[in-house]
Amino acid sequence: MNFNISISDIIAKNEVQQAMHLINTSHRIVITSHLSPDGDAIGSSLALYHFLKNRGKDVRVIVPNAFPSFLKWMDGADDIKIYEYHPKGGQYELYSADLIFSVDYNTPKRVGDMAYALEKSRAKKILVDHHPQPGNIFDVTISYPEISSTAELLFRLLLQTGKYDEITQPMADCIYCGMMTDTGGFTFNSSNPETYAIISLLLRKGVNKDKIFSKVFHNHNADRFRMLGFMLSQRMEIFPEQHAALVYLSKQDQAQFAISKGDTEGFVNYPLSIKGIIFSTFIREDDGLIKLSFRSQKSFACNEFAAEFFNGGGHLNASGGEFYGTMEETIAIFSAGLKQYETKLKAAINEL
Ligand code: 5GP
Ligand code: MN
Repeated sequence: MNFNISISDIIAKNEVQQAMHLINTSHRIVITSHLSPDGDAIGSSLALYHFLKNRGKDVRVIVPNAFPSFLKWMDGADDIKIYEYHPKGGQYELYSADLIFSVDYNTPKRVGDMAYALEKSRAKKILVDHHPQPGNIFDVTISYPEISSTAELLFRLLLQTGKYDEITQPMADCIYCGMMTDTGGFTFNSSNPETYAIISLLLRKGVNKDKIFSKVFHNHNADRFRMLGFMLSQRMEIFPEQHAALVYLSKQDQAQFAISKGDTEGFVNYPLSIKGIIFSTFIREDDGLIKLSFRSQKSFACNEFAAEFFNGGGHLNASGGEFYGTMEETIAIFSAGLKQYETKLKAAINEL
């Protein structure tokens, strides 16, 4: 029996060739990623940053706003520019670039205030992403929603261009971090055997997977846990008819705890541990807006729900949205939405 697991060339040959051509003919390259950058956004951006820098390019990574401290261990994280803090500097970089990478997001809307300069820049643009429905501003669109993380897609791109030898240990760490965070530590959206063939290749580069897991998932302060406990006991509603759960935190709730940005990451996942719940929503009151996170199981398309009621989107089983109004209004729209989607929720529970 032959146990070789090969890694398929899923990225179209012309996309690989065009991307390499643009890299080879560009010098100033800007890598951008989405608002509230997560492990996949930062991991993919930094892996690409190292790859391009090592090839002698003049590279910048710019993200719209700050990212959580549990991602700051990655090599190059200190070089990342936060657009919100220096918009003029960010605009200058975008306008003077030869090439811009859009990593882990599908449309300009996902980079907030950076969208205008991104769209107006005359630089060539390459998308490397795994969200459905990519926008049309790109010269090369490498969009594969069936791949669970952009980091994995980037690894595949490097592999397909014959650049495995150029992957260094810091790059491998960044790629592994992106793959790990977008799959909840390989607990969902991670059943493709090839994902583990890729991990095997990353481990050969010296990735310390247990250390990365600890740095990301065991790096919280005690108040974050106290707030989680408060939320689960005081701010959780179960909708048994719709197999759904809601957890929420107002600004006042959050003010009782010494927390910082990114500390509520992962809160949305907890209600999915409850028997019979296949749709979980977390609502957080932010400055001037309400942010929503959705997670679902099986065929229930939480990105469709996010798009219909909360101007959002994302993946089939992990999506987000926003709302301008009060917490009460948000919950009312959410509850009405659940009733509207009851048939689809009931269909999905039968697949478990
Ligand atoms: P999270 O709940 O972790 O913030 O986001 C989950 C997924 O939904 C991510 O893939 C993210 O890109 C997407 N997402 C989060 N918020 C929004 C939003 O406001 N609009 C859109 N289109 N996607 C979002
Ligand atoms: Mn991602």
